[in-house]
Amino acid sequence: NGFVELGLAPELVQAVADLGYTRPTAVQCKAIPLAMGAGADSGQFIDLMVSSQTGSGKTAAFLLPVLHTLIQQQAQAETAACDTPAPKRAKRRDPGSARNLKAATPGALILCPTRELAQQVAHDAIDLVKHCRGLRVANVVGGMPYQMQIARLQNANLVVATPGRLLDLQRSMRIKLDQVQFLVVDEADRMLDLGFSDDLAELNQLTSERKQTMMFSATFAPRIQQLALRVMHDGGSSVQ
Ligand code: AMP
Repeated sequence: NGFVELGLAPELVQAVADLGYTRPTAVQCKAIPLAMGAGADSGQFIDLMVSSQTGSGKTAAFLLPVLHTLIQQQAQAETAACDTPAPKRAKRRDPGSARNLKAATPGALILCPTRELAQQVAHDAIDLVKHCRGLRVANVVGGMPYQMQIARLQNANLVVATPGRLLDLQRSMRIKLDQVQFLVVDEADRMLDLGFSDDLAELNQLTSERKQTMMFSATFAPRIQQLALRVMHDGGSSVQ
């Protein structure tokens, strides 16, 4: 299956096979190798701006490379942990009390313009991590009770969010974004239509300077290019 040739982790190849995907779509063939660092200096990831329509397989085009890198990092961290003595066990926290929870520190953040899209993307991500031991996905959207969302954020590696609720949680120190190494802006054109331009710029500032940003949009209209210049290193490389 063509997903093996893309160099994806076996856990992800198995998950796409379970979903019945037999070969990558055009946008997946183009975006996944670039997102995984093909053509970049070793260890470097390039920012990408991808033109994609709904139905093209764009969601897996950003989820798969992000999850692949998170899996690799987790494996490296486990190997390193085997070489060092185990730290003293932390006191058990009462999972029922949101007050006892630390701020979440996800490694990957996917921003979506609407609650419905964020829920759909989180659903797709959960399908893709089903064979990945220890990778957790959380969904942060308006309209869901705060306490439930905060509890689910604990230990999340990948957060799929709408900008408004995410900023609320950041301001109340429930989530810290400085560990985010992958930032995906899905449906960037709709983000701008819905007036999220300043929220996106603020969220971008809150994440690490050394992250990889991917923007997906139905068009490359000038206003999208302006947004790219605002949030991406060198305005990003384009994939059409
Ligand atoms: P999207 O463009 O991400 O909204 O995806 C549209 C639909 O295509 C979703 O139902 C996906 O589950 C499905 N899909 C994504 N990638 C593939 C693939 N490689 N083969 C078959 N179906 C896919």
